[in-house]
Amino acid sequence: MLAAVSLFATVQGFALTPNAAGISQRSSLSFSAGPMLPDVPVMKRAMSLSGGSTTMATKGGKRQAVKGFFKNLFFPIPKATAPDAALEFASTCFFPTDFHNVPLIAVKDYNYDTKVFTFGLPEGVSLDLPVCACLLVQGFDESGEPAIRPYTPTSSNTQKGSFELMVKIYEKGVVSQWLNNLKVGTLVGFKHIKFNIKAQYPFAGKTKINMICGGTGITPMYQALHKIVNTAGDNLNVTLLCGNRSPSDILLRKELDAAVEKSGGRVKVVHVVGDKPDMPAIPGWTGELGWVDEDKVKTHCFAPAPDVLTLVCGVPGLYDVMCGPRTEPEVKAGSVLDKLGYTMDMVGKM
Ligand SMILES: Cc1cc2nc3c(=O)[nH]c(=O)nc-3n(C[C@H](O)[C@H](O)[C@H](O)COP(=O)(O)OP(=O)(O)OC[C@H]3O[C@@H](n4cnc5c(N)ncnc54)[C@H](O)[C@@H]3O)c2cc1C
Repeated sequence: MLAAVSLFATVQGFALTPNAAGISQRSSLSFSAGPMLPDVPVMKRAMSLSGGSTTMATKGGKRQAVKGFFKNLFFPIPKATAPDAALEFASTCFFPTDFHNVPLIAVKDYNYDTKVFTFGLPEGVSLDLPVCACLLVQGFDESGEPAIRPYTPTSSNTQKGSFELMVKIYEKGVVSQWLNNLKVGTLVGFKHIKFNIKAQYPFAGKTKINMICGGTGITPMYQALHKIVNTAGDNLNVTLLCGNRSPSDILLRKELDAAVEKSGGRVKVVHVVGDKPDMPAIPGWTGELGWVDEDKVKTHCFAPAPDVLTLVCGVPGLYDVMCGPRTEPEVKAGSVLDKLGYTMDMVGKM
């Protein structure tokens, strides 16, 4: 076994040297936890590569980590490669307008139905996705037919060598289920096209930004918020109206709280929870109840004006009610935003 590990490691290009107990180890790392267990940094890496949580402290967690460590030794994750520079690129984004494959390098549970998928990029390379914009993922349905869906990364462009997608897994969802069943190491196709480059930060001519979203529609809003609160000298004001079925479905809640805190009063977040419009009170919940509707937009959002931009993202039903389909630039006649007086130049369909 040791000989096999040693030989494999040599092929992989790093040196294994036996320690005092005769156990092989990477020369830059040491074994300390026990006779057969790698030390904490090695285990953490093994956990993250195998999709496990680094907070696991149980025996089961250790076993998983060790399993992941050896799995990675024998079945290494493919390295991400750069796309051919001659391809067409819609923006600064790493991905061209044709699908380019990168490896899934880790999966972590976020809550009961949502996971964070980490994908590899070449070492030191940023995704460099414009804000706001999303990527298209190529999944496959049960019969092997391609199925393509948009996802907005939750990692920022400062992250190098990888990026993250936070994905809600729907029981009958084609691409979310396909992602859910992927093994770490699988290559996944991404592309980035002009249609998905939406209103661009710093939103020239705008001073007030409304963000109206439902469920995973928070991801493009978070992308913009992150940029707004982390850009020195930015003075945009933001109201985020964020709908979810229940308090436990709210995604990125801590990150949103941190953005509010950091903004010095410029960012306001209003959570709306409920699975019906006349949602009864929920013990301990002090936010809004029901659905994101005309009344709540009127109460919380900046009123229509030339310097106001209203970003919308969510299920097709939310687009329909608020502003009309995502694929049509116009604000649909009779939609909530139309009735309240927001015109096309004041609305961005993410
Ligand atoms: C700009 C943009 C960014 C997005 N970013 C993200 C993201 O970061 N993370 C993420 O998880 N999703 C995101 N989405 C949604 C994503 O593109 C898919 O629509 C979603 O993952 C469902 O795809 P699916 O193939 O699994 O389900 P589908 O096969 O398309 O749908 C099957 C069934 O799943 C259910 N379902 C599908 N979508 C939803 C939904 N949104 N809400 C409730 N039920 C649904 C419905 O019952 C539907 O009939 C984004 C969408 C847009 C427009």
